Amino acid sequence: MIKIEKADRLKQLPPYLFAELDRKKDEVKARGIDVIDVGVGDPDQPTPQHIIDTLCEAVQKPQYHRYPSYTGMNNFREAVSAWYDKRAGVKLHPLKEVVSLIGSKEGIAHIPLAFINPGDVVLVPSPAYPVYKIATQFAGGFPYEMPLLKENGFLPDLDKIPTDVLAKAKMMFLNYPNNPTAAPATPEFFVKVVAFAKAHDIMICHDFAYSEMAYDGYLPPSFLETPGAMEVGIEFHSLSKTYNMTGWRIGWAAGNSEIIGGLGQIKSNIDSGIFEAIQIAGIEAMRDDAAWLAEMRTLYEERRDVVMRGLAEMGIKADAPKATFYVWAEVPAGYDSAGFVAHLLEKTGIVCTPGNGFGDPGEGYFRIALTVSKERLQEAVDRMKKTGF
Ligand SMILES: *Cc1c(COP(=O)(O)O)cnc(C)c1O
Repeated sequence: MIKIEKADRLKQLPPYLFAELDRKKDEVKARGIDVIDVGVGDPDQPTPQHIIDTLCEAVQKPQYHRYPSYTGMNNFREAVSAWYDKRAGVKLHPLKEVVSLIGSKEGIAHIPLAFINPGDVVLVPSPAYPVYKIATQFAGGFPYEMPLLKENGFLPDLDKIPTDVLAKAKMMFLNYPNNPTAAPATPEFFVKVVAFAKAHDIMICHDFAYSEMAYDGYLPPSFLETPGAMEVGIEFHSLSKTYNMTGWRIGWAAGNSEIIGGLGQIKSNIDSGIFEAIQIAGIEAMRDDAAWLAEMRTLYEERRDVVMRGLAEMGIKADAPKATFYVWAEVPAGYDSAGFVAHLLEKTGIVCTPGNGFGDPGEGYFRIALTVSKERLQEAVDRMKKTGF
């Protein structure tokens, strides 16, 4: 038997906060309780049929069976630049300013390897999608957490970052519309970010995963449409959330050509791109999607309204999300995040996510994902009302 010891980069990871919740969920299920899981941010609906049909056709063609290009098929990257032009009025060079990704998580996880040396600081929001911080640590960088607070509209207060941190900071992750807080960013905030990036030589990596999941006529701005953004940053995007394609693993990064080039160089040494039949289906997904987007938005809007009505009746505070499929709600008095989520699971069979699982400033909140039908959400609300807290 040899001695098998994990590397420091794995040992340094914090304990998995949801382990106890997962255990409890299994225990509640084993008791025969009908569990309503609004914990995970994964669309419950199928991928639109025309996208599946396009894949089925493409998969028959031997030309797509070989190694794909590392950086993406030219026509996929052209479709991405056409999307940016149509959606945000941003003109991109498809080959220099776009790189395909095996889901945006892949690119987010790899970008620090291209630019971060041990000791460099990366500014990451908190609460947040956990990958920004972990990817920074894997690259030997030091994550500096910028708290996202309600009083600032869940935008980081850039003026509060200490000078000594700024001196070492090389990269900043942002994500709007935001997971988990559902907050949108204003164009004015992005203008401030560009000026800040230029003043301190900080690369901006904006995660735009929820760009199309927006309601009541709101259309979230792309970071890249901010004047000067192409000089300082890139944007990660993905087909996962918009087209119910989380399992397909297809996304991209777009923006500054030097940053895109660095990410592409890392990727060409690690992976071999996205299966080309999936890229062909991805092109189909982005084509003529107005009717689909309207349908998708209506679905989540209706679900959101069921939850917001229920929470209001119970006196639980939450702002109705203008975007994303999350409701970021305040836990009732007398509980912390973990305690309230455990109470809900134990007494009602509802699984949601404790806010502190996304970082300490998320303490005092819980996240509901609108990823079950409105009938099930109504059932969840009714159970909460009946049980009380
Ligand atoms: C879901 C999600 C993604 C998308 O990940 P993919 O790898 O593209 O499926 C990226 N960022 C955030 C914040 C997300 O919530």
